[in-house]
Amino acid sequence: MVAAHKSVLMRLEIRPAGNLCRCKHDKKHTIAKGEPRLVVRETGPGTPEQGYCADCEIAMLNRASRRIDELREEVRAQMV
Ligand SMILES: [Zn+2]
Repeated sequence: MVAAHKSVLMRLEIRPAGNLCRCKHDKKHTIAKGEPRLVVRETGPGTPEQGYCADCEIAMLNRASRRIDELREEVRAQMV
C-alpha cells in the first residue's frame, strides 16, 4: 500500500466556537457559540488560538482554492 500524500492543509481546522468570540480578521464579526469557526493553527508554543467567522472563512477558502488552481496549472505547464 502506498502512503497517503502529505496534507498541505494541516494548519486548518473547522471547529464550532465554544463561546461567543470575535473574528480575527475583523473584531466587528462575531461568532456565536456553536457556529463554525475556521481555526488556523499557529506554530510555536503559547500562541493563542484564533479563528475566523463563516464569511471570512469562505472568502479565505475561495482565495486558497484559486491559489491551489494556479499552482496546479503551473506544475502541469512544466510537465511536458
Ligand atoms: Zn470575519
